[in-house]
Amino acid sequence: MNAPIAIIGTGLAGLSAAQALHAAGLEIVLFDKSRGSGGRMASKRSEAGSLDLGAQYFTARDRRFVEVVQQWQARGWVAEWDPQLYHCNENGLSSSPDEQVRWVGTPRMSAITRAMLGALPVHFSCRITEVFRGEHYWELQDAEGQSHGPFSSVIIATPAPQAAGLLSAAPKLASAAASVVMEPTWAVALGFATPLETRVEGCFVRGSPLDWLARNRSKPGRDNSLDTWVLHASSSWSRQHLDLPKEAVIEQLHGAFAELIGCPLPAPAFSLAHRWLYARPASAHEWGALADADLGLYACGDWCLSGRVEGAWLSGQETARRLLEHRQ
Ligand code: FAD
Ligand code: NAD
Repeated sequence: MNAPIAIIGTGLAGLSAAQALHAAGLEIVLFDKSRGSGGRMASKRSEAGSLDLGAQYFTARDRRFVEVVQQWQARGWVAEWDPQLYHCNENGLSSSPDEQVRWVGTPRMSAITRAMLGALPVHFSCRITEVFRGEHYWELQDAEGQSHGPFSSVIIATPAPQAAGLLSAAPKLASAAASVVMEPTWAVALGFATPLETRVEGCFVRGSPLDWLARNRSKPGRDNSLDTWVLHASSSWSRQHLDLPKEAVIEQLHGAFAELIGCPLPAPAFSLAHRWLYARPASAHEWGALADADLGLYACGDWCLSGRVEGAWLSGQETARRLLEHRQ
């Protein structure tokens, strides 16, 4: 019997692996605990339009990723974002233009993974709680107690702490994943009925509870009925305020924004907060992917490389490469 390959996680890493394996003629089945794909590249639909609460933009430095981003651009999945960039530190706000090409999904970040998923078979709202091996094949168990399988191989494409719990059949891989510390990020969106009187469209911040802010309407294809801003707290502020109620997080980050933006800030017409518990690895790795090819168990994700969108895509490709190499 030629059993399919299970992929747990429909973020960019899982979908990158899925596309490569599907292109090689292998049958795959995807699982995600969320209601849709994208993971940390997901966009939240709100009364202020779709908001990129996770990944804000991405850069492409590796030749293979540069090539794929050009294909995405040709298909209309991504566009360049060239914001008026600033940085803010103890000396205040200053313009900080550069030559870096930055990309965003259009009309929202999640457009990329939605398009990559296409018609591939997927189970959403399905949290996998156990990955175990029978005599010949792999089986998955979900949080509802339902089992899925048989599968010839399993690829775990979740953040490292979640992967560690699913890798118990391969203790070496489990302990590598468990060694990765992932830092949280509080994200807040504020929508203003009257546009703010500032030229800032993106800002790298130091020495504040915030570490980044972006003006949503400056990105291509976004809804601009409100002037909506996405604010990201720094890892250390987010860690220290992990269990703060959302209203208090909004109030504190609104205060930090008011202090640095340098223009009058009216009361927002819209606000929301989202906590990313496993937002980014505390440090980069050079693993590419984790693999026990003889067992048929793999793990991938941004945490195996740079902790960025590009790293997630490359890690998915590396997993598919190792799996295909083992089958030759
Ligand atoms: P994820 O996107 O996390 O995908 C994992 C998937 O697995 C999720 O869909 C999840 O629901 C699913 N899952 C987890 N556990 C289970 C389970 N048990 N069963 C089933 N499904 C499960 N990168 C940049 O390059 N530029 C940026 O500007 C940037 N900004 C960021 C800002 C924030 C606030 C955050 C959180 C991240 C940011 N990143 C940025 C990082 C970027 O988003 C990630 O590197 C990338 O999206 C990770 O993709 P991934 O596939 O590895 O993981
Ligand atoms: P990038 O080259 O634009 O940014 C890398 C870093 O360089 C920035 O964080 C910033 O510190 C600095 N920088 C770049 N351009 C600057 C400018 N014009 N002025 C001042 N500083 C500048 O993009 P990248 O390397 O693809 O990194 C992706 C971004 O995603 C980073 O900003 C990173 O912090 C962010 N990220 C955030 C999270 C989170 O959880 N909040 C997770 C992963 C990545």
